[in-house]
Amino acid sequence: MDPALAALGEFGLINLIRQRVHQRSPGTILGIGDDAALLALPAGGGLLVTTDMLLEGIHFQWHWGRPRELGRKAMAVNVSDIAAMGGRPLHALLGLAIPPAGPSLADLEALLAGLEEEAATYGITLVGGDTCRSQSGLVLAVTLLGTPPPGQALRRSGARPGDGLWVTGMLGGAAAGLLALERGLRPGAPWPADIARPAWLGAAEEAAIQAAIAVHLAPVPRLAAGQALVGCATAMIDVSDGVASDAGHLCAESRVAARILAGRIPIHPGAAAMGRLTGRDPLDLALRGGEDYELLFTTPTDPRPILGEVAPGLAVTRIGEVSAGQPVPRLAREDGREEILAGGFDHLRVSG
Ligand code: ADP
Ligand code: MG
Repeated sequence: MDPALAALGEFGLINLIRQRVHQRSPGTILGIGDDAALLALPAGGGLLVTTDMLLEGIHFQWHWGRPRELGRKAMAVNVSDIAAMGGRPLHALLGLAIPPAGPSLADLEALLAGLEEEAATYGITLVGGDTCRSQSGLVLAVTLLGTPPPGQALRRSGARPGDGLWVTGMLGGAAAGLLALERGLRPGAPWPADIARPAWLGAAEEAAIQAAIAVHLAPVPRLAAGQALVGCATAMIDVSDGVASDAGHLCAESRVAARILAGRIPIHPGAAAMGRLTGRDPLDLALRGGEDYELLFTTPTDPRPILGEVAPGLAVTRIGEVSAGQPVPRLAREDGREEILAGGFDHLRVSG
């Protein structure tokens, strides 16, 4: 354990967190410091509750550095779940397990600053958590509470035959960023001397790879977009495991079929570059890579005017349509072949 952290101790660290946390969300009667937080129930009833963990060795490697981005991501992936319901995030809890050979006090401070930064961006107050020693890697487990939109939360189950299937942003960036990090590329760093640089890889491709690394390290949850889609989208899910998997969930919950056009998938330019560099199919990175934290949704209308207002510059693409039939997504390739779209990231199915 870092001596500075050991000197501070568990309660010193909790105190430090308590001092750094700002009250932002309405309804925090008691935050950090008592046995439990006390929150006023939101008027109108209904509470959205979600939790997502980030584990060292599974979701990130400590040697990639960037503790600030890690703190941001721990919050962002939870905000993405609230966004996918069309809700508003309010209060967060942080479960923190720290390995002895892990972060220094300075690293933890950077991590907490990133978490607070993200909380500030979305109006969230950290109201509690738990702090333990870890026998393996660093664990960050954020729980986020929020309010559903007036009317009804946007579920996975409302898609209807005839709806268009749409996605925000670009896909495959996070997977490409992960490939780049695994190969030794680092954010903002020049091309490593020990990695062969092919002749086709110019400044534009390198910038695209850097953008993909940024998506992986610090994804931007589509909160404003999710909220604006209330009343427009019939069903919504955030793309955490890849469209292949997440469109599958949407079809299963809505009991509808979907036809996705391969040629319409908005492939992140970093996925195109990393695909070429590693021999991976960029379309496969886009459909099965996961962690892009974009929104996948269905609607009978054109969502672009609405999203253009709240999220100018955010790509919005119609990638297919919903129909009646076997509740699975199908992928229509440009050569006319069609196949059931399956796969995507599954924590319990990965080998090794
Ligand atoms: P208890 O032993 O009763 O669970 P703790 O000592 O774990 O109490 O926690 C004391 C207070 O500090 C509680 O309000 C708890 O929510 C808060 N807390 C503990 N760890 C964290 C953390 N990592 N982030 C935010 N708040 C925390
Ligand atoms: Mg506790």
